Amino acid sequence: MTAISHRITVIPGDGVGPEVVRSAVRIIDAAGVSVDWEYAEAGAEVFRKGDTSGVPAETRASIERTKVALKGPLETPVGFGEKSANVTLRKLFETYANVRPARELPGVPTRYAGEGVDLVIVRENVEDLYAGIEHMQTPDVGQTLKIISRKGSEKIIRYAFELAQREGRRKVSAATKANIMKLSEGLFKRTFEQIAPDYPEIEAEHLIIDNVAHQLAKNPAQFDVIVTTNLNGDIISDLASGLVGGLGFAPSGNYGDDVAIFEAVHGSAPKHAGKDVINPTALLLSSVMMLRHIGEADAADRMEDAILVTLEEGKAATQDLVRQTGGDVEQATSTTGFTDMVIANLGRHPATVAARHRTQRPGGPAAPLPRWSYEAAHYATIDRTTVGVDVFIEEDTTSAVLGPLMETIAGPDLVLEMISSRGTMVYPATGLASDDVRLWRCRFVSPVGADVPDSVLLGLLERIAGRHPGWTHVEKLHFFDGEPSYTKAQGQ
Ligand code: NAP
Repeated sequence: MTAISHRITVIPGDGVGPEVVRSAVRIIDAAGVSVDWEYAEAGAEVFRKGDTSGVPAETRASIERTKVALKGPLETPVGFGEKSANVTLRKLFETYANVRPARELPGVPTRYAGEGVDLVIVRENVEDLYAGIEHMQTPDVGQTLKIISRKGSEKIIRYAFELAQREGRRKVSAATKANIMKLSEGLFKRTFEQIAPDYPEIEAEHLIIDNVAHQLAKNPAQFDVIVTTNLNGDIISDLASGLVGGLGFAPSGNYGDDVAIFEAVHGSAPKHAGKDVINPTALLLSSVMMLRHIGEADAADRMEDAILVTLEEGKAATQDLVRQTGGDVEQATSTTGFTDMVIANLGRHPATVAARHRTQRPGGPAAPLPRWSYEAAHYATIDRTTVGVDVFIEEDTTSAVLGPLMETIAGPDLVLEMISSRGTMVYPATGLASDDVRLWRCRFVSPVGADVPDSVLLGLLERIAGRHPGWTHVEKLHFFDGEPSYTKAQGQ
């Protein structure tokens, strides 16, 4: 009897998930890797049972035990309902690095065939708009907080450079929207610029994310490693998968300090569920990343080679690939048939490409990942001043009426600096044609730039509190080491 050497949590998931997971498990077993698979639930079925997290306690306990999970896609209601169980899983285990390679594959025709597309998107995986902090500020104005921390940025940026070093890559491109979101995306960009000199052998560049989308469509082979914030990474990694044949070919790994979760980039593709037609390649390539992560490099190479041979020879092609090659979809290979062919090809080597033969985790599974460089003591040295407050007020009025009123309410220690509507200054009047949505940001500041105590801010809120519907949200205005912690309004 073979000794069990690895324990892995396996989550079949929703829609096509069970089919692609079955394919991956069969091939890993056939490759001779000894795994004790711990089957666990997450996603739609769990929501239906009334667990609002979508990830039951037993599943969490299993991942805590095994530290590695292979998961199928999980369904998320769009625009309503419970939070995404995918995002919950990534966040529960602080898998902060989402690594999404996009590499030209043999036998998969694309517009870029022959250009040598071979890039990795390293997406920050727990912060940004995916922090999931959302409110309706009024019945008609929604708000999602975009949280970007220096620590989160440093971790993912160092991860990207370490990955580049490990894989012998030459360039890391940071992709941000720092031109517009100067404090959140800007912090990511500034952190990138601070860290890049620690890796002098690797070229570092910064590009605005919209230009990255443009450059990816125009000349994707120019990219090597792209490091970016969560939402940017979510979008451009789907774009990148389109460059190499589509979602059927896009793998990913979510890495944290302790836990790693491997999954395809694609979702549950409900219309294909249960039909045995889905392309399992994305999850198979994710499984290759997983095998490298758990130290099964030889098996990873064998599995990757077998997938490449199968694609290269073209004897097995699932519907999505047949559509791209213009063949007869009726003749397409089933998911099971494709899996059988990969198993039959184990031990063979592709003629036109080499398997990557590199570990996907910087430093390999045993090496500790880069740690956060700031000591707690650093925060004690920062000079802080509270210079005022932004109070968001819901009121059916006009800025011309609200402005003078707020000036009188401001009191002796504060003055009304301005009012904005959705970020554009409307009081004092600028002549800009800004529509109103019954939500006004009123900025009160110390007239002399003095440090404003909480008692003054609370007094202001009490004076505003009598109004109906009234204040909805408050944001303190600070200076940190002499630098403002907030931006001006447009038109200010
Ligand atoms: P999707 O499930 O990725 O499917 C969109 C389309 O992509 C499919 O209809 C199919 O295109 C193609 N496709 C996806 N996977 C494929 C594969 N393995 N082989 C061949 N073609 C494939 O995206 P969605 O329809 O927007 O999302 C469905 C559900 O999945 C949602 O509930 C969403 O929240 C969830 N989701 C989960 C994850 C995750 O678990 N990580 C990720 C994304 C979305 P054709 O129609 O052209 O055949």
